[in-house]
Amino acid sequence: MSSRPVRVRFAPSPTGPLHMGGVRTALYNYLFAKKHNGTFVIRIEDTDQTRFVPGAQDYIMDSLQWCGIMPTEGPGLGGEFGPYIQSERKSMYRPYAEELVKNGKAYYAFDTSEDLTKMRDQAKSMGMPNWQYNCITRGSMQNSLTLSADEVSKRIASGEPYVIRMKMPRNQDVRFHDEIRGWVVVNTNNLDDKVLFKSDGMPTYHLANIVDDHTMEISHVIRGEEWLPSAPLHVMLYKAFGWEEPKFAHLPLLLKPDGNGKLSKRDGDRLGFPVFPTNWVTTDGDVFSGYRENGYFPEAFVNMLAFLGWNPGTTQEIFTLAELCEAFSLERVSKAGAKFDPDKTKWFQQQYLRNTNDQYLAKQLNQHLNNKYPEDKLAVVCKLMKDRATFIQDIWSEGSFLMEQPTSYDEKTTRKKWKKNADQIMTEWVDELGKATEFTTEAIEVQFKAFLDKHKLGIGAVLPLFRLLVTGKGMGPSMFEISSFLGKEECIKRLTIGLEKMAETQTNL
Ligand code: GLU
Repeated sequence: MSSRPVRVRFAPSPTGPLHMGGVRTALYNYLFAKKHNGTFVIRIEDTDQTRFVPGAQDYIMDSLQWCGIMPTEGPGLGGEFGPYIQSERKSMYRPYAEELVKNGKAYYAFDTSEDLTKMRDQAKSMGMPNWQYNCITRGSMQNSLTLSADEVSKRIASGEPYVIRMKMPRNQDVRFHDEIRGWVVVNTNNLDDKVLFKSDGMPTYHLANIVDDHTMEISHVIRGEEWLPSAPLHVMLYKAFGWEEPKFAHLPLLLKPDGNGKLSKRDGDRLGFPVFPTNWVTTDGDVFSGYRENGYFPEAFVNMLAFLGWNPGTTQEIFTLAELCEAFSLERVSKAGAKFDPDKTKWFQQQYLRNTNDQYLAKQLNQHLNNKYPEDKLAVVCKLMKDRATFIQDIWSEGSFLMEQPTSYDEKTTRKKWKKNADQIMTEWVDELGKATEFTTEAIEVQFKAFLDKHKLGIGAVLPLFRLLVTGKGMGPSMFEISSFLGKEECIKRLTIGLEKMAETQTNL
């Protein structure tokens, strides 16, 4: 562990909505910061103006807010290291690029995109499909290493466009320790002379990222595996500036449910589950669905995400955010890609629904229902139905009968159970219930059992009929609880109406 204070950052590019892989990166940064009493920073990396998508930054902030993993420094949040949007830091980067040129670690390059295409095509025709601007080829290009100092000054003074490229040294091993992967060694012969500063006056991702991580005093860079190939260049840049490197941790990829390849932004709609935390509406009005709008609780979503690439080393699966902060460690993050499991995601949601207080669920449910019902009644609906539901909306689709008389009767149960004597049995049961003086769950159960004994009937011959007439369904929670909740009058009314409906159906057959 570095002795520096822990400062981590999530550095998304506002090129679209935040995929759940991005949310997981933010989450691990958040957990790591909390675990080490550190600071979690968000920095918006918008140096590639061609890929800028309006609304993306707000979407990112809104999603983190929904997940409950807000950074403490960032745009609109304050902090001593701002601005936190790279385009607002634009003027800071050039001097750093120039410093590298002055120290011989970088150079000006004047090659036009046509020149570069020509070189690539030539190389291809000679059987070398992957031409790179590197320690070998730079000697035959137009740059400050091949042109005279006078020529370079003249070209710059005349306004000729140029970029600044990293001068990657020849045949050196770049070594760095990744907190998840261990030692990584790459030879510089395999690295090209990346552009650090573009002709449009903007730094590239690489330069801006390193300058910002350094000036924002970032201690740990925790990011997706897709950035691992860039890490050697970043390490070389730290060395070129003479700066202390942060620690690196490259998180495993999120894989499709079948394990075949990276979970992509398009998979969600193709495979029938959300890949975004919240709905994203494109400028054309297309909607990509989000976990929030699908009815997931943020706590369930976050709990599920935490397990995509990390495990606590115990069998515990349900963790509050505070417990995750306590339990999280980079040592327990795996190197192997993490398969996304939509069923497990639903399972997490089910567990959270079950553990959520009925009053809270009732309030949420009532909002869906435009506050149509008394909340104390809905709280009982939630209590009775939540073990059978995944989402709040299921409580209603499965349990609306608790508030409303059924309008239809489950066909399969009717066909299977509504036999010849059903009408007679139920008529007698209605009479029996009519005599009840106490209408508690227990009392109804006692009365029901006595009724079965008296008529020498099995539970399976009567209970499904009782359920069918009162709820319209073939399955559900305890009929005795349902009955006591509905009350004697309502129960008898439903049984009577149900009997009439069944008689009609039978005569119509
Ligand atoms: N802007 C990069 C991204 O969009 C950040 C990568 C990093 O964390 O260094 O993911």
